[in-house]
Amino acid sequence: AKARVVVIGGGIGGATVARYLAASATAIEVTLVEPRQTYATCFFSNLYLTGLRSFESLSHGYEALAKQYGIIVIHESAVAIHPAAKTVALNNGSKLSYDRLVVAPGIAFRDRAIKGYDEAAMEIMPHAWNAGQQTRLLRQQLESMEDGGLFVLVAPPNPFRCPPAPYERASLVASYFQRRKPKAKILILDAKDSFNAQDLFQDAWNRHYPGMIEWLPAQFTGGVTAIDAKTRSVITAGATFKAAVANVIPAQMAGRLAQLAGLANRSGWCPVDPVTFESALQPGVHLVGDAIIGGDMPKSAFCANSQAKACAFAIAADLTGSARFPAHLFNTCYTYLAPDDAFSNAISFKPVDGKLKSVISFVSKVEESSEVRRQAARAAEGWYDAFTHDVFG
Ligand code: FAD
Repeated sequence: AKARVVVIGGGIGGATVARYLAASATAIEVTLVEPRQTYATCFFSNLYLTGLRSFESLSHGYEALAKQYGIIVIHESAVAIHPAAKTVALNNGSKLSYDRLVVAPGIAFRDRAIKGYDEAAMEIMPHAWNAGQQTRLLRQQLESMEDGGLFVLVAPPNPFRCPPAPYERASLVASYFQRRKPKAKILILDAKDSFNAQDLFQDAWNRHYPGMIEWLPAQFTGGVTAIDAKTRSVITAGATFKAAVANVIPAQMAGRLAQLAGLANRSGWCPVDPVTFESALQPGVHLVGDAIIGGDMPKSAFCANSQAKACAFAIAADLTGSARFPAHLFNTCYTYLAPDDAFSNAISFKPVDGKLKSVISFVSKVEESSEVRRQAARAAEGWYDAFTHDVFG
């Protein structure tokens, strides 16, 4: 009989593992469990938010994975994992057996990280940190906001999904305001005292949007402690900020299933072997993507995809005796400062003493010419198409 691999989560990490396992080893039956019929990418969702891309262009189905690669796609949620019996329970009551399991559930928000920010408050002050209905809601709010309104963005503590993304969002919202609501202001209330690529962002904010974006680090405000959804207010120790539109991005941890199944440690994230991505807590279960403790690897789609390939090759080698490849772990990231001004970085990673360390890196500099930045903005579009094709077929 064929060896069976079940992959839970059809986001960037999970879909890539499924596709590469199915493509590399015909002796393995691959089942992908994902509740949604269509996946919307978080990457490039800041362009959608500000009217520069359609929602459809962010949406990807599972047809190619099923038809071209023979992956069994089941649109259900996994509710429990039984490692001793090697089974997964789905919310429709059925059970799947596996020889190896891969869990790639993405992120969850920490409960009570911000007082009052519950499911109902998210419908008034969206996080838009999982792409879909939340992203559409935030866009509607930005569109219907009056000129002169205050947009408050609450930025989360480390570690979180996509370190430059809150600041990319502020940049692109500023470019939208400049076009459509020039009197509007943006206030970033940060849980941190510094942030990713801060010099590049602050340089761009001075050049493109002078006076529009104010960033307040935690040392000035003590951080956001509560919200009041009724008045759309964001509350810190010393002040209350009343927003016209509020985007609250709370503290994060590995997705719920990883917590339930005992795959996360006390940090809230999942420790893994940096070569095979097998759980350090549960043998036979692998994890990739935002849910893991990735050492120097940031929580990005590119990293999830890169980890997924290494994980797929390691599983195929174990189950079928196929050749072992040395893992090549990379991150390439494009970040928009304005529609025609983007920066990029390219970093590779390798396991050193059980941890993933960055080894070679290219990072954009403040002094780069506007032509270089324009080219990066165009290159990013090509990257999106090639990358999503690699993940979803
Ligand atoms: P996800 O892609 O979130 O996938 C998790 C999947 O698991 C989901 O489809 C979910 O439905 C499913 N799932 C969860 N629980 C269960 C369950 N119990 N049963 C079954 N399925 C389940 N990254 C980049 O590389 N470049 C960028 O430019 C970039 N820009 C970003 C901009 C923004 C605004 C944001 C928020 C993120 C950005 N990212 C970017 C980060 C990127 O989106 C994430 O790192 C990436 O999606 C992580 O992949 P993942 O597979 O771990 O999680």
